[in-house]
Amino acid sequence: MVGAGWAGLAAAVELADAGCAVTVWDMAPTLGGRARSGIPLEVPGLGVSDLDCGQHILIGAYTDSLRLMKRLGVDLHAALWRSGLQLIDPHGVGLKLPGGHPVMAFLRGLVACGGWPLADRARLLLRMARWQFQGFQCPAGWTVARLCEGLPSRVSSELIDPLCVAALNTPSKTADARVFLRVLADGLFAGPGGSDLLIPRCNLHDLVPGPALNHLQQAGAQVHLGRRVMRIEPMKAPSVQAMVDPGEQTRWLVHTAHAVETVDRLVLATTAGEAARLLQAWDPAWSQTAMAIPFEPIVTTWVQAPGAQLPGPMVRLSGGPAQFAFDLSALGHACSGLFTLVSSDARPWLDQGLPILEQAVREQALNLPGVQRDQVTIVRSIAERRATMACTPQLQRPPARAAAEHGGAWVAGDYVDGPYPSTLEGAVRAGVAAAHHVMNS
Ligand SMILES: Cc1cc2nc3c(=O)[nH]c(=O)nc-3n(C[C@H](O)[C@H](O)[C@H](O)COP(=O)(O)OP(=O)(O)OC[C@H]3O[C@@H](n4cnc5c(N)ncnc54)[C@H](O)[C@@H]3O)c2cc1C
Repeated sequence: MVGAGWAGLAAAVELADAGCAVTVWDMAPTLGGRARSGIPLEVPGLGVSDLDCGQHILIGAYTDSLRLMKRLGVDLHAALWRSGLQLIDPHGVGLKLPGGHPVMAFLRGLVACGGWPLADRARLLLRMARWQFQGFQCPAGWTVARLCEGLPSRVSSELIDPLCVAALNTPSKTADARVFLRVLADGLFAGPGGSDLLIPRCNLHDLVPGPALNHLQQAGAQVHLGRRVMRIEPMKAPSVQAMVDPGEQTRWLVHTAHAVETVDRLVLATTAGEAARLLQAWDPAWSQTAMAIPFEPIVTTWVQAPGAQLPGPMVRLSGGPAQFAFDLSALGHACSGLFTLVSSDARPWLDQGLPILEQAVREQALNLPGVQRDQVTIVRSIAERRATMACTPQLQRPPARAAAEHGGAWVAGDYVDGPYPSTLEGAVRAGVAAAHHVMNS
């Protein structure tokens, strides 16, 4: 297994539990990839604490991720703050779904959503009913903006746009409507709790990477951190063996700076760019597709804003780079007055430079209710320039199988062809699928 982000870890756990001897290499010193912890944050007056590389949210429909956490012994009630979907502004106005049957919850949430005129709510309801009647399908090539044409502008700006950017990290004018509908169908209509909002109360490390490491080590797996795989090379099995077992596959040599090891089956769970580099010699077409994937940045900014009072742990923002603010103390972290403001689809801001973005985020923080104006401080920003794929209708995603002419390798990651956008759930599903392919091959 090359790569120990959530895709690689999900695959490794699946394989180890099936009794396979697993070796994991990751070039980073910590597990978790783009959803890793261990980044120091020095907050004036609060000391140094460990933080995640970016604020993450999950929804109840992320069934494979939740199953993985349960399997690793994570107490989901303690680890995740859970409520019905909330897209409320800093004053508590907006859509707030109660629990229960998803369709009933949506109807009740819409009835109670005082911020929108009755006619707007009726038009949204009709549109939702139409999407459901059409099986949440739409023509290829449609963007979310095209899909939502005719909806009232408030519904678009206060529901569709934030949902789209939260789920796909791509603005609705360029986001793939089919992927959006898939997330909507799973979230709102797949089953009770699917649309629930789940926000980590602990570091991401304690949700999957840490428990997965314990699990793998107990199962006898080898986990090598700080080891970049430089090169992979197919090694043909001796012909006599191929005659005895015609299904025998090529083995792979895995080169790191420290050693060369041989594996029977290879799963590449790296970033798209690294998988493309490693496979270039063995599957140039696959590499070309992976190299062409466009990426979108996300910037997470930690802001100290003493006195700010939010109506929930996560609120929707407008009028700036950040779309959401999270109250870390409401999520159980010991850091009163500390908030994360998340700027998805942040390329236009980053093009102007991080200081400009931070200044605009500070203005947004100043508008939070209860804030003491002269005490708002930007503590730190982390800009992940290749946070997720840009999920557009033109996007070509490479398949999970590569280098077939050389015996074949499996690829896992949030960018591999599949129904989900770049998310934790997309990564975990790709990892589990790769493990099953390996076991069946
Ligand atoms: C700031 C930010 C916010 C996000 N917010 C959300 C959110 O709210 N909800 C959500 O669901 N998703 C969110 N995402 C997306 C989510 O984090 C990713 O989809 C997911 O972590 C991808 O996992 P992965 O295993 O596919 O890839 P990665 O996490 O990229 O893992 C790849 C691993 O491979 C290793 N590697 C690469 N090359 C080599 C090599 N040659 N040798 C050895 N190791 C190698 C890397 O070190 C890395 O550990 C966010 C992402 C970011 C960056």
